[in-house]
Formats: sequence, C-alpha cells, structure tokens
Amino acid sequence: SASTSPATQDLFTVSSPNVAYSDSEINTKYAYRTTSVTENGDGKFVATPKETLYDFKVDRKIPKTGMMLVGWGGNNGTTVTAGIIANRLGLSWDTREGPRAANYYGSVVMGSTMKLGINAKTAEDVNIPFHKVLPMVHPNDLAIGGWDISGMNLAAAMDRAAVLEPTLKAQIKKQMTEMVPLPSVYYPDFIAANQEDRADNCLSGSKASLEHVEQIRKDIRDFKAKNGLDKVIVQWTANTERFAELVPGVNDTADNLMKAIENGHEEVAPSTIFAVASILEGVPFINGSPQNTFVAGCIELAEKHNSFIGGDDFKSGQTKMKSALVDFLISAGIKLTSIASYNHLGNNDGKNLSSQKQFRSKEISKSNVVDDMVAANNVLYKKGEHPDHTVVIKYMPAVGDNKRALDEYYAEIFMGGHQTISLFNVCEDSLLASPLIIDLVLIAEMMTRIQWKASSTDGAATKEFGNFHSVLSILSYMLKAPLTPPGTPVVNALAKQRGALTNIFRACVGLEPENDMTLEHKLF
Ligand code: NAD
Repeated sequence: SASTSPATQDLFTVSSPNVAYSDSEINTKYAYRTTSVTENGDGKFVATPKETLYDFKVDRKIPKTGMMLVGWGGNNGTTVTAGIIANRLGLSWDTREGPRAANYYGSVVMGSTMKLGINAKTAEDVNIPFHKVLPMVHPNDLAIGGWDISGMNLAAAMDRAAVLEPTLKAQIKKQMTEMVPLPSVYYPDFIAANQEDRADNCLSGSKASLEHVEQIRKDIRDFKAKNGLDKVIVQWTANTERFAELVPGVNDTADNLMKAIENGHEEVAPSTIFAVASILEGVPFINGSPQNTFVAGCIELAEKHNSFIGGDDFKSGQTKMKSALVDFLISAGIKLTSIASYNHLGNNDGKNLSSQKQFRSKEISKSNVVDDMVAANNVLYKKGEHPDHTVVIKYMPAVGDNKRALDEYYAEIFMGGHQTISLFNVCEDSLLASPLIIDLVLIAEMMTRIQWKASSTDGAATKEFGNFHSVLSILSYMLKAPLTPPGTPVVNALAKQRGALTNIFRACVGLEPENDMTLEHKLF
C-alpha cells in the first residue's frame, strides 16, 4: 500500500553489478540486444548482432493514485468500481452456485505471474505475481471518480447495468449511492441518437469550447485535491463515438486543434476534449473505445507536453481470441484464408452500436487486427495478399451484457485441404473489460515512474534521463487497435504484446528477457 517503505515492499531484489537500489530509486544498466540486417541486393541478407546500453531509473515510491472514468455510470464504469470496492472490503456473497469472493481474475497485472528465474537448489521455476515485478500501485488503493452524461448515482447505475449479483450489490449499495458522476461534455452528433434520453447531466454547450476543456481540467484538479492524490489517470469508457472527420487546418496539428476547440468546430469530439484536458493537465489519458479520439493534432499536443496517451478500444473477448489464434495459425505455417466474426449483445453499448456511424468505428477497430501477422509471413502470403475478414454486430436486448461472439476461421492446409475452426464465445462483456481498465491504469501509472537514458556510442547516446514516448504502445496487450508513436509499426500478435510488456518490466530491474530455451534441462 502507499505507506509501505520501499525496503519492505519488494518481494525480490536483483543481485547484479548493473543494478543499484537507493531508498527512492532502482538504477539499472541494461544491454539491449537486437539484430541489424542489411540487404545485399542479390536477395541475400547480412545479420549483425547489435547492442545498445541503456540506463533505466525506476521511482520506488508508490504514489497515491486516482482513476477518473469518462462514462463512469455505464456498464464498465459501474462494474469496475463495484469490483474494486468489493476487493478492498474483501467481500464474499452468495450465488446459486455457492459463495463467491472478490478477485482480480482477468487482470494481467493482478492475476498472472512471471517467471523470475530458476531455484538455485531445486532447479524448479520460481514464479512471482506480475504485480510484484516493479513497485506498482495496488488497485484496492485507487481513488475512483469520473463523469457521465447520465446523472444516476453509481448504485442505481449498477442496477441499470444488470451485471452483478444482487447479494453483492446489497453489500456495496451505500458506498455506491454516494458516488455520483460529474456533469460531462455532450455533443449529440457523436453518439447514437438513441442515447439522448439518458443525457441529463451535461455541461451547457453542444460543441467544442475552451470552457469545456477548462472545466474538465478543474474537475481533475479538484478530484486530486479532495482525495489527496499524487497522480490521476483518466480513461474513456463512455459510448463509442463516430469518427471525427480529418480536416486539414482543424485537427492536423496541435495548434490547429486548439484553435478548432476555441472556434467551436463541429469535428472535435467530446473524447478529444477529455484527451486535450488531460494532456494539458499532465495526466495520462487512455481511450477504451474505437473512435479516432487521437487525431494527429492531439498526438502532437501530447508529445509537446510530454504527457502520456494510450488507445484504442479495450481488447476483451473476440479480438483477444483472434490475436492469439491467428498468431498461432500463421506461425504454425497454416494459411488462414478467411475470418467471419458475428456478435450480438443486448447492453447499452450494443444499443449505441446499432447506429451505423458508431458501428463503423467498431468495424474499423476490429478489422486490422491480423495485418501484422499476415504481413510477417512472406512464405504463405504474397505482398498485399490478405485473408477475407468480415465483422457483424447486432443489438439483441434479451441477452443483456452476456455478449455472444461467433467466429469462423477458414484455412488452407497441406496439399489443398481445408481446416475450419468455429468458436462460440459467451461472457459478460463488462466483467472482461473491467480488469483491463485496471491494468491500463496500473501500467500507465507505472510508466510515469520509469525513465531512460542511452549510453551507447553509436550516436544514440542521450545525456539526460527522459520518459518513454508519449504514446504508450506498451499498453497494446489490452487494446484492440493499438496506438503507436507516429511512424512506428503496430503489433497485434498477443504473445508479442505480452512479451514486450513482460520484458520491458524485466529490463527495468536488470533482468534478461524471458526466454523459453531451458537449456539447463536439455544439455546433459
Ligand atoms: P455503456 O453504454 O454501458 O456505458 C457508457 C457510458 O458512457 C454511459 O453511461 C453513457 O451515459 C456515458 N457517456 C456517453 N457519452 C458520454 C460523454 N460524452 N461523457 C461522459 N459519459 C458519456 O457501455 P459499456 O459497456 O460500459 O462500454 C463502454 C465503452 O467501452 C463502449 O464504447 C464500448 O464499445 C467500449 N468497449 C467495451 C468493451 C467490453 O468488453 N465491455 C470492449 C471494448 C470496448
């Protein structure tokens, strides 16, 4: 917890001449090894091992942190809030299947482990909780707040969401009733018309304005002061918006975007207003929905202010399976030729997505998720060749939050044969998304406390410690359409995303990347 001293909070220390611990920091010298490839012109390559030396500095003091959600009164917002309160109180509740207790299943940070190394005595693997690799915030300690265009208190909103058991809800009702979303920015044109009847908690004005940006900034500052916080992370888990049109002179540069906001331009989305306010406040902002909140001007603004952003669109169910399964198929040398994905869901997200422009945002977000894996296999696919890929989403009120996802993967195998894999995935959408919301907050917060410096002699040397790039692509594992620094590749393959997260965290405490060679068990 926030009051634990660094000396006692660590589950392990690294014993290495490259790693030094002080009361406030962990300082590490790390050799990053890659392979540099040159092409000979005759179709042949030369591969040269390359090494860059980095200094990493980790701030060991765990800050008192707050999470502010836009769309706090929605299914995700209420479910993640209830889940954290239930964990904090150590609650259990009765269900028809017997008692259940609060947990953090589905959170990579809280629910998974990492191999630290090999036991010196027994030669067995030593695994530790992911949460213990670096000095991370515990979700139970998060202060929670946020905004919603619906003014319902969180207890009533949790009932509206119809996700959690009544026996759990009864135990947290009092606390949830006291939580009421702040009034939000509502520009009706950006979300489905069918959302209008819940919009009773809105700031005045239905197009972009500097007043809106200033009000959101003030809300963040007030929340920070009221809860005595060191840090705040803001996350968009509100309705999916339509895409904003990209207009030269409006959202292409940071200055133009600020001018467009001042002039009340109709192509500035509410989510971009929240992003801009967070950036100007120096607070990380993460977009959990598919729309193009991060127009070029918004990314440039984040870079200018050295503020962190991450997105887009939580990767909870169907796409997570897709980015694991397609990775497996194509790296098994099987030629995937088509993917057909059908969804039906009956929650408010589904209702909003039943409107064409909002569905289009989701369709775009879901459609590029196999591109990197296909492009990487030049044995199976010719340049530009791509499997067919279709995404359908239908609103079916009766199934509520219990989203159905049906997928058919069709592949070509040896000697002209075919393999068809059909998946039927059923689960409460919000119970998958909530742990991702927690992971995104914890990891984004951790990234604000890691700094680096390059000390190699190949021209990449930097004198001063600096932050990671403003665009936190390390969050890709949790996101369907990962935002990466401009001009850098997008990685969708789930195992690679996990590897990046794991190995960057390891590097920060001077540990080698995880590898599965286990030579110690193979060379006798
Ligand atoms: P929801 O409709 O239950 O909640 C969204 C909330 O946002 C509502 O309470 C609504 O009143 C509020 N809202 C709308 N516009 C707002 C604004 N301008 N400011 C503040 N609040 C506003 O939806 P949900 O199921 O909680 O999902 C939230 C978002 O997360 C959706 O965009 C959805 O597509 C995305 N998402 C969800 C999942 C998942 O598994 N649940 C996965 C990926 C993405």
